[in-house]
Amino acid sequence: MTAALVQLTAAQAGARVRARELDPRELFEAYRQRAATDELNAFTWVAEAPAAAGPSPADAPLGGVPVAVKDLFCTEGVPSQAGSRILEGYRPPYSATVVERLTRAGAPLLGKTNQDEFAMGSSTENSGFGPARNPWDRARVPGGSSGGSAAAVAAGLAPWAIGTDTGGSIRQPAALCGVVGFKPTYGACSRYGMIAFASSLDQAGPLTRDVTDAALLFGQMVGRDPRDSTSLKFPEPVRLPHADSLRGFRLGIPEELTGTEGGVEPGVRDAFDRSLELAEKLGAAIEPCRLPHAPHALSAYYLIAPAEASANLARFDGVRYGLRVDGEADLLTMYSRTRAAGFGLEVKRRIMLGTYALSSGYYEAYYGTAQKVRTRIAQDLHAVFERFDLIATPTSPWTAFELGAKLGDPLQMYLNDFCTVPMSLAGIPAISIPCGLSDGLPVGFQLAGPAFSENRLFEAAFALERAIGYDGSPARG
Ligand code: GLN
Repeated sequence: MTAALVQLTAAQAGARVRARELDPRELFEAYRQRAATDELNAFTWVAEAPAAAGPSPADAPLGGVPVAVKDLFCTEGVPSQAGSRILEGYRPPYSATVVERLTRAGAPLLGKTNQDEFAMGSSTENSGFGPARNPWDRARVPGGSSGGSAAAVAAGLAPWAIGTDTGGSIRQPAALCGVVGFKPTYGACSRYGMIAFASSLDQAGPLTRDVTDAALLFGQMVGRDPRDSTSLKFPEPVRLPHADSLRGFRLGIPEELTGTEGGVEPGVRDAFDRSLELAEKLGAAIEPCRLPHAPHALSAYYLIAPAEASANLARFDGVRYGLRVDGEADLLTMYSRTRAAGFGLEVKRRIMLGTYALSSGYYEAYYGTAQKVRTRIAQDLHAVFERFDLIATPTSPWTAFELGAKLGDPLQMYLNDFCTVPMSLAGIPAISIPCGLSDGLPVGFQLAGPAFSENRLFEAAFALERAIGYDGSPARG
């Protein structure tokens, strides 16, 4: 029975609960058992039972289908550590708005998922709680930073999950694990209760088995929240996609993000090209386009994100949360000992980079220039969307790599984000869908559109997903 349940998508399972054909407690228990015996280190905490607070599952839009939540979302009374030892055992007194919304819509919390510390990384190896593993090959990384969420969904340890994406952290692990990952328009989902990395970039979004599940979950996450002043009212209802063709879609292929300069592997490029052929057969008009400033996106991102992080992480000082290492009589020594012991190597690197980029003599040269580049990238995209509805690129230049392969070389690790960072800087929505395998490992296909084009994105991704006919079941074995 459990095995059969796990074959259902979240939308299918929810529909059965709402039709009173499936007992939501049985569904929860099936996933709870799988999550509790997780061999991928995808979870940092697993619930014992659905929280009492939720509505009656059979009457709720999400039908009682449990959701796995990235560690960095504050969840009331439950460890919320952002993958960091400095927050070990921290149990917040409130939940993030998106988590609260999902609970109210009938998706109880299944567990918290592993991640790179403070969402800094592309492999989940920077977790303070040990690396997560890729269910397609356990010697390989699941991507990051939402690697635990991606691995859990791919392996059928969770029906669906949420993560956060600052420069690619939903889309890239989704690609490497062969699931759907969606980064919404900046401001579509409230950031309240998300432990902040880079506030002008951070967005919450779903990681799911298919596009329908992504639209369904996202539809319950969106909305203006007075507790996040950058959140916006979503301009239209979020619809479940039905398109069976791409007629009328003009699809731009940015040369700068699809060529070998970004290091796109041949196997990835092949899978990408095959999907473009399918898109053309479905009626899309496909043409190359240019994003001249996109190759500078990584450099701009790796100044802006660390700069914001260096400010956001100042609050972890041993006084209010988590770890404290005493400094005898001296407060400053307590701060520095706590931060030296609690933060990992990559987090320290980012704090130093960010502090340097913001220092008075260099502010204009580094942070100021990066902000100008960010504007140029947004303008490039704006211009492209006058001629095209959507753009398409591979999500990640490569497939899942072996644990340790890039850990000692930060610049190599940062290249993971080559294709995903431009959309983050511009605040536009982008989705990664699995588009096949290369040497037995999943490849992600990324579609992006203008701000608030979510419904169009889901339609296009849905039509393409059906044409691709990807089979993710080997990872659930
Ligand atoms: N890999 C990128 C980084 O390390 C993106 C992370 C993210 O989106 N949170 O910053």
